[in-house]
Amino acid sequence: MAEKPHENPPASNRGDMPVNLAPQAPGEVLSTMEVDGSRRWMKPTPVFGPWWKRRSVIGWALIVLYIAAPIIPINGKPAIWLNVLGREFTILGHTFYAYDTVSLVLFLISTIVLIVLATSLLGRAWCGWACPQTVYMEFVYRPVEQWLEGPQGQKLRRLSTAGKAARKGAKWTIFLLISLVLAHTFVAYFASWEALLRWMVRPPGENLGFFALMAATTALVMIDFAFYREQMCTIACPYARFQSVLLDPNSLIVSYDPGRGEPRGRRTRAQRQQEAEGVSLQLGDCIECGACVRCCPTGIDIRDGLQMECIGCTQCIDACDEVMIKVNKPIGLIRYTSEVELEGGRTRFLRPRVIAYTVVIAVAVAALASVIASHDGVNIAVTRASAEPFMELRDGTIANRLGLRLQNRTSAPVVLRIEAVEPADASVQMVGPPETTLDPGEMKRTQALVSLPREAFAHGNLTAHFRAVAEDGTAWTFSHVLLGPSPGSASIGTLPDGARGARSPIGATP
Ligand code: SF4
Ligand code: SF4
Repeated sequence: MAEKPHENPPASNRGDMPVNLAPQAPGEVLSTMEVDGSRRWMKPTPVFGPWWKRRSVIGWALIVLYIAAPIIPINGKPAIWLNVLGREFTILGHTFYAYDTVSLVLFLISTIVLIVLATSLLGRAWCGWACPQTVYMEFVYRPVEQWLEGPQGQKLRRLSTAGKAARKGAKWTIFLLISLVLAHTFVAYFASWEALLRWMVRPPGENLGFFALMAATTALVMIDFAFYREQMCTIACPYARFQSVLLDPNSLIVSYDPGRGEPRGRRTRAQRQQEAEGVSLQLGDCIECGACVRCCPTGIDIRDGLQMECIGCTQCIDACDEVMIKVNKPIGLIRYTSEVELEGGRTRFLRPRVIAYTVVIAVAVAALASVIASHDGVNIAVTRASAEPFMELRDGTIANRLGLRLQNRTSAPVVLRIEAVEPADASVQMVGPPETTLDPGEMKRTQALVSLPREAFAHGNLTAHFRAVAEDGTAWTFSHVLLGPSPGSASIGTLPDGARGARSPIGATP
């Protein structure tokens, strides 16, 4: 793929650029496209100002975090493990299973509304500061490229053909190595680091599926960061499309101040001298130097107003501040601000939508915390398992048929038996195997026949307490209201096949 590097020209000039004889767009085109429809390669000039330094500190902290998240164990599992095949999702030590619909819905609501809130307050802070696409592109791939080739490929121009080939070869080799690391990290989020290590040490012949997966993932990462690049943000990412509805006039955005900058205009040396002497040139502070456009990784001109392609990377702030310092003007011609502030008002952070989003998040997080707190080692849900409220057995005792849903939320298998705690003379007979074996994360349904003497139902019902006991003696308790005949009433219901006659004495616990 042939690259046609450009110093990012001002967007307003793009339609006037000389091009070949291919059909041309009549007016403004995408920032990543030439007017003839071919790819316009971005070669931004980096500006290492204060905002870049802040972003790089956060960016590198996030890179470490992104790599560590599937490796560092919390409660015996990776900090983040999206086990799609196993239908379980571990986040910071807590595992959500596919049947945890309430928890998953609450988690999704909290996450989505948090993104909406963050965008409403801080604009595209996520895109510019934390998105892996930006972080890896701007702090890993692009620095490697600029180290070897220089901004706009300047270092290559002085080299012989062999020298250029060596530099390009080094760049692609480093890109490939980085892409391999990223691909393995990405797969570890879904397969777990342990499984990844197991696959990596086995001979390739035994592991063709894994090698095909890693090759495909590495190729995708390489295509993304080496070729597709900013187009992921400007064309593919749906979040950019949403921002127009998520932002409001009080949202913080990176913006050019037209009230201060316009009318823009270059200055001659004589005009600069006049300006320094305090003579008004009837010009705004923008000296039309183009530094804010040359540094932009998506190739736009921030002076054209808020644009979907702006990822809020702050490079244009650093570039313009450098220029303002050089021409002895106050910094901040391009800055974090809001539309309200640009029109002379004051940015309001506490506004109805922000309060509404915060309330929704607080409620969802509180509900999620309470649901998670109720998830102890084994979850037991009890339902009535037959149409009849109760049955009278041959020996005159009254039986209730209960449906049990048992979930093992521990990280080890458990073998459970169900016992009655109160009343102690209640008899529990499992319909099926007397013990239930559950693998980690597994959920099973079973039934139990609980019988008691008729006299126990003096008021027609009673609350019984049970426990599920594991082999090591760990027990989880649960309760259920058992139904029986009211005093003086006749029995109803029938004795189920297989439950007639003998009743095992499991049940009473010390
Ligand atoms: S860097 Fe500042 S002065 Fe230069 S063109 Fe951009 S806005 Fe104008
Ligand atoms: S306009 Fe400025 S903040 Fe937006 S992407 Fe370009 S350089 Fe970054």
